[in-house]
Amino acid sequence: MQSSQSRYRNPQPTSRADIFEATAGAGIASIRRTLNKQKEEKRMAKTHCTFCGKDDNDGPLKSCSRCKAAHYCDHTCQLSDFKARHKRQCANFVHPPTTSAFLTKPRASERYPLHPLFAHWHEDGVGCWVTIEGRIDCELQSLAESLDPTELRDRQKRMMAGGGAASRQTIRTHKVTARSLLGLRVLVQNRRKEKNPILVFGSHAQVLSQPMQTSAVQRGTAEGDNLVKFMRDGVPSAAIGVANDPWDKVHRLGISYINGVEVKKDAPLPDNIKNANEATILLNTGEYAILHLQFRVGDGNTISKDWEALGALEAFFLPWAPWDGTSAPAALAGSFPTAQAPASDASSTTHGRLLRAPFDQPGVDEYFADFIEHGEEAYTRSHYGDARANMSRVADESMAVMGERLLAQVAQAGNTDVLIQRLRDSGMGELADKLASRQ
Ligand SMILES: [Zn+2]
Ligand SMILES: [Zn+2]
Repeated sequence: MQSSQSRYRNPQPTSRADIFEATAGAGIASIRRTLNKQKEEKRMAKTHCTFCGKDDNDGPLKSCSRCKAAHYCDHTCQLSDFKARHKRQCANFVHPPTTSAFLTKPRASERYPLHPLFAHWHEDGVGCWVTIEGRIDCELQSLAESLDPTELRDRQKRMMAGGGAASRQTIRTHKVTARSLLGLRVLVQNRRKEKNPILVFGSHAQVLSQPMQTSAVQRGTAEGDNLVKFMRDGVPSAAIGVANDPWDKVHRLGISYINGVEVKKDAPLPDNIKNANEATILLNTGEYAILHLQFRVGDGNTISKDWEALGALEAFFLPWAPWDGTSAPAALAGSFPTAQAPASDASSTTHGRLLRAPFDQPGVDEYFADFIEHGEEAYTRSHYGDARANMSRVADESMAVMGERLLAQVAQAGNTDVLIQRLRDSGMGELADKLASRQ
């Protein structure tokens, strides 16, 4: 007789319970993320003159063309600010460009920003800012969930297609149901003086494990994962690339915004996007893109929350290269510096540069302190307000309804024991008890 612990770590091949479980989790995630998105869209950034503070009621302000982070009522304000502060702030990437898709400062009535800044770096006129694509329950995502919540239904159909051995095999070998994917939202901007544009290579982004967390991070990986183990100053390290999707055979990434405008699925791609699947993006001076990148950092066990995954990481890496407009982007990508082999030799033939943004661990701890110390409801209240906490309770109730429907289906198929254990393991003990009492 196996203990429940070992059964969890080494799931036995079951019938369709795995698939049911995976898709139910994805449905719940979708509800939560929809809530998150609604909030985001309601928050439009109101701009004020960076120098004199006047608001934009009399018409739109003019922005600094290099950073898009400073806004002025007229040339006089711009010139005065440039001499006083902005020249230095612009060159040092002190503020990200102003966009409602990346709000790193809390609004007046709020304690926490919508997009807390967890990593930032700039070098050679290119900078990046990193936050998370967080869910309000702070759970990492699983491979069962679609990157874009609106595509969840199609994805469930694909997962269930055939319904049999192939799907079950994929679920096991790729640890599909483990909450292991950390979603990062990355804003990257070109502020170079050079006339030539740059290319950013999103699919080549990486995160590097903290030395003490390398083995924990490795524990969560599975066949086909994009992970390189190497020694750094005599210490084992792991460089993790963008996760792969076992069903769609693509990188788990998306280009969300170009210059503050949402990239829509059914609209023609903006000219900046050279390759959507690889997230190869052209940026002229002043332009910026926002990427959604997923990395398998968690193990579904000791690392299953956003702060646990962030706490396991040392830095985020993003390669880019100046572009003459003629070389093939794919050829450039072949010779990039990486987290495991950063180029330091000026005479090396490599063309690319590598941004290395260290994670701000005290910042992570502070942002999630309410959740860590007092739980989800305290966190939701302090970060999203009472209305949100109540909304999330509604979401939990819908989840219970969905769970019951799911249980009824699985019970008919005769796999309740496995599912009850899984529900307990994933913190849904109440549902598990309900089902157990019905047996
Ligand atoms: Zn002004
Ligand atoms: Zn500027």
